[in-house]
Amino acid sequence: MSLRPTIDFLLHDWLGAEALNQRARFADHSRETFDAVLDTCERIAREKYAPFNRLVDTQEPQFDGEKVILPQATHDAWQAYAESGMLSAAQDYDIGGMQLPYTVEAAANAFFAMASVSIGAGMLTVGNANLLMAHGSAAQQRVFALNEFSGRFSGTMCLSEPQAGSSLSDVATRAVPDGEGFEADPLGPRFRLKGNKMWISAGEHELSENIVHLVLAKIPGPDGRLPPGVKGISLFIVPKKLVDAEGALTGERNDVALAGLNHKCGWRGTTNTLLNFGEGKYPVRGAAGAIGYLVGQPGEGLRCMFHMMNEARIGVGMAATMLGMAGYHASLDYAKNRPQGRPVGPEGKDPNRPQSRIIEHADVKRMLLAQKSYCEGALALELYCARLVDEQHTGAPEAADEARLLLEVLTPIAKSWPSEWCLEANSLAIQVHGGYGYTRDFPVEQYWRDNRLNMIHEGTHGIQAMDLLGRKVLMENGRGLQLLAQRINATIERAIQQPELAAHANALGKALQEVGAATKAAWATGNPAEALANAVPYLQAFGHTVLAWIWLDVALAAHSAPESAARTGRLAAMRFFFHYELPKMGAWLGVVSRRDATCADLPEAAF
Ligand SMILES: Cc1cc2nc3c(=O)[nH]c(=O)nc-3n(C[C@H](O)[C@H](O)[C@H](O)COP(=O)(O)OP(=O)(O)OC[C@H]3O[C@@H](n4cnc5c(N)ncnc54)[C@H](O)[C@@H]3O)c2cc1C
Repeated sequence: MSLRPTIDFLLHDWLGAEALNQRARFADHSRETFDAVLDTCERIAREKYAPFNRLVDTQEPQFDGEKVILPQATHDAWQAYAESGMLSAAQDYDIGGMQLPYTVEAAANAFFAMASVSIGAGMLTVGNANLLMAHGSAAQQRVFALNEFSGRFSGTMCLSEPQAGSSLSDVATRAVPDGEGFEADPLGPRFRLKGNKMWISAGEHELSENIVHLVLAKIPGPDGRLPPGVKGISLFIVPKKLVDAEGALTGERNDVALAGLNHKCGWRGTTNTLLNFGEGKYPVRGAAGAIGYLVGQPGEGLRCMFHMMNEARIGVGMAATMLGMAGYHASLDYAKNRPQGRPVGPEGKDPNRPQSRIIEHADVKRMLLAQKSYCEGALALELYCARLVDEQHTGAPEAADEARLLLEVLTPIAKSWPSEWCLEANSLAIQVHGGYGYTRDFPVEQYWRDNRLNMIHEGTHGIQAMDLLGRKVLMENGRGLQLLAQRINATIERAIQQPELAAHANALGKALQEVGAATKAAWATGNPAEALANAVPYLQAFGHTVLAWIWLDVALAAHSAPESAARTGRLAAMRFFFHYELPKMGAWLGVVSRRDATCADLPEAAF
């Protein structure tokens, strides 16, 4: 079974991606150029990623005391990805990019995530370089970002510390000006950094000539103390190896040392590191302290980081989606081939009849259809959000602003919904395999382990939920939520005209009304502790409403297509979502609306 028909249907029959070519930025593109990008990525994913997915799981990164050793396959995958031009796909022609719409870039990257999510760490490098294109100086862009787009350098994001994960205001990495004339360095104001960064993905390896760490740190005030809160956080480029103003390596190793590798449950193809900055393991220019160059203004670090968060979070949501999809395809294939049990007839089972294949059992069909509805629905949501990113960047001013605000509200869902439900899909894929699914002889347990990360990183589930209910639905006087409601209502109005879809349209209207009422009820006392105590059930109900909308909208496109097995499947996945999933939201919204304090009020001793 191939992913491509689903991608093509969503991109073209549903989203009408080709219309982007009418915009000046994408004028050279056509369906043919989009297809060529998808073809190339599909091929590289098939040849350089998929065959090595198990290998990178079993041959974890090793540290020999000096270097981190990765399988040759990881080097080959990095090289093939860099050579494909995907690192710079969205960039301007004059810096070697393709000016590809983000919608198509996201769709093309889906093939890699499905083939082997952890073998490639291109997403971090692109995110790092994009941030520098938005906030770095011209020299920082030329020396660091352009070398990342070409694949010569790779990038990291160093936010977390052992004592500061969800709460970045507690970052304790310290940055002090690096002597006389520190402000005049051609690469940006030069500082010395000291601190420990935990969980840094792709923090050490030999895949690229250099590693560009983007590091959050605080500049002490005149009293020598670090400023409290997030407003005191600044952003620095800390290269593993120092470079000159032209980007050539100077031969000096910066004072960034690998303290250890983390041994993870999954996603093992990517190294994950504890890095010590500035502890003197590699004294540089006669002193301890990692050399770093300030990006933007002091105190603006988190703002710069958050600028890139929408795309990073769509990337995480897409990874979660494609891991779910990989499990769906594997379990579908298994279910078509595994004989077990017999059909139940009016007289019970007849042992003389040949066995059924398990795909013939209603309960196995339920598990497969659940996976299809979670994963294909999530894929549609991610592509919809990617389309909003293109609108934000290339649309007319009013449409661009609408897209910005819709993304604010939808991004926590785009990140978190697939992290929870496509993980559930992976669990169902194991279940479809029975005992075999619980062994390492089949790929589905790895997909589950790989996917378990996505509810944790890029803002945990709980943090995303509080962001949605505590900030996003309230911002700009609730205008984002209103915009979303308008779009949902527009879909409802179209669907209600179709007899086959009218009941679903009504169910969606009711769900939307219930989410609105629960939002008000959660905030009725104006007390954030009460409102946010049940933020995760709110996220779940909100997410299910969004997915029901996406499915109804996709169903409208499917409905007008000619009869085919794919059309039948899409409409059935939509019906599954409305019949088996959407009704769950009543329980979630109940505790939100009542501001249920069962959890919040329980004293520690009672646990
Ligand atoms: C494999 C992997 C890769 C990673 N890659 C990177 C990377 O490249 N760069 C980087 O900077 N970081 C990275 N991270 C770090 C990741 O972003 C953090 O693990 C995450 O932000 C959570 O921080 P923490 O682990 O300290 O957990 P904590 O913040 O201690 O959270 C523990 C639990 O408490 C909950 N919690 C915390 N605070 C609150 C609150 N105020 N209200 C309610 N609940 C709360 C959380 O939701 C969570 O369930 C990575 C992590 C992993 C596991």
